[in-house]
Amino acid sequence: MKNKYGLSRSIPSEVKRQIRQRSKFGCVICRTAIYTYEHINPTFINAREHNPDHMCILCNNCQVDSTNGVLSKKKIRDAYNKIQESENVDDPKRKGFFDVYERNLTVNLGKSSFQMFHSVINIDGKDYLSFKPDPDRALSYVINGLFLDHGGSELFRIENNEWIGNTRQWDVDLSSTNLTIRRSKGNIMFSASKDPVSQSISIMHLNMWAPPFHILIEKGNLLVGRCDIKRKKMIYFFISGEFKYGTCALYLDSMCRLDSDFTAELEISGGDGAYIRGTGICIGRSFSSANISAIGVYPSDENFLSNELNIEGSTQAKRNGQQIFILGCLETRLVKFPDWEEVEYYLYGYKLKYKPASWGVVSVDDKSGRVIELFHIDGGVKAQLEDAEGFIGYWADDFVNEHWAKNVFECYVWEYTEDGKHRVRVKIKDISDREIAEEINPETGQWFHPHEFAGVPVWKGKKRIFN
Ligand SMILES: [Zn+2]
Repeated sequence: MKNKYGLSRSIPSEVKRQIRQRSKFGCVICRTAIYTYEHINPTFINAREHNPDHMCILCNNCQVDSTNGVLSKKKIRDAYNKIQESENVDDPKRKGFFDVYERNLTVNLGKSSFQMFHSVINIDGKDYLSFKPDPDRALSYVINGLFLDHGGSELFRIENNEWIGNTRQWDVDLSSTNLTIRRSKGNIMFSASKDPVSQSISIMHLNMWAPPFHILIEKGNLLVGRCDIKRKKMIYFFISGEFKYGTCALYLDSMCRLDSDFTAELEISGGDGAYIRGTGICIGRSFSSANISAIGVYPSDENFLSNELNIEGSTQAKRNGQQIFILGCLETRLVKFPDWEEVEYYLYGYKLKYKPASWGVVSVDDKSGRVIELFHIDGGVKAQLEDAEGFIGYWADDFVNEHWAKNVFECYVWEYTEDGKHRVRVKIKDISDREIAEEINPETGQWFHPHEFAGVPVWKGKKRIFN
């Protein structure tokens, strides 16, 4: 449709951008961040051009008021001028963009998807993006978020589903389904889109620096980095996959001591998520289902970001298959996070970095020396063992450098039959200043996992004696 001067309704994108910038990304009357481009004076019917000098942003409501004459052109013009001149303009706000989600929420970070993770980004226990059940509306969710830019400054906030921008950006473009923030022409610093049908939000661009962490979403890739300030180095964790039903999509713990050697050592388990040891970076925490298509760890110097990302040749670390046992009283503590609870494990008052692989209770037989009855503990029994004197099974390289490693014991495992019952026993031997002994099944030459002996099917029905 064209007016009598042949001017089309469609406004060139460059002109739209100038109008957004000069209106500071919100309705000049009420600051709602919804973009209807209004010809102030002359009105569109009488306009010969789309000129940012005579156009501004109005929200739908204010535009209706303008059309009806409730809101005068002079008032709009004055408001537009004032917003351009003023340093202190109210932040643009927008309800609706984050307001349609009810169930099966999925957040896509690059090509990785996280379904039903109520906490999406959590740094040191603080949620930076979360979906919480709405206390007032059944089956609805309240979205809250804080996004930072590459300099650590606030990019925008989401408060109870309301998007709250700020006027310091170069350009903010918010439509009904897309949000794009640009640093300069062609330089997108944040972009997201929503799909109400699939109940998903996709973040395609993010460059968020929350020291010591850096979250980068670019070209569909999700990279989470941590810096080692001493060595001025970064290590980046790249992952691509589908995760379902966990507590937190990106869980970052700056209190996690940075290991002296934090090379590509990657671990994945259903209970914990995928994490690089000693970096505090965990992806897909407590997921119950994951389909991982690619993983990589990129130790890098500070020039890393200027280099082309090389996603090929990712490394997947192997876990040392050795498990050893430690005597002690396992203490458990429940820690409450905004959206979930976690159990922390302590031994001798020191927090264990990892959940023990297995644990059980000690039983000493005076006649035959120190004998431990080793139980394989399933989920239902664990609670009874909390704070009980006993032992825990641990992966050797998880604790070998810990000062309490002197309490490690070596074990010999054998099976026997008693009262028609098949049992597994472990005899311990005290050792101080030991090196981690290889624990190898003499028959197969394979590493053995003591907890696998303990009543689990692998060994059931077979009699094996180790001296
Ligand atoms: Zn308005």
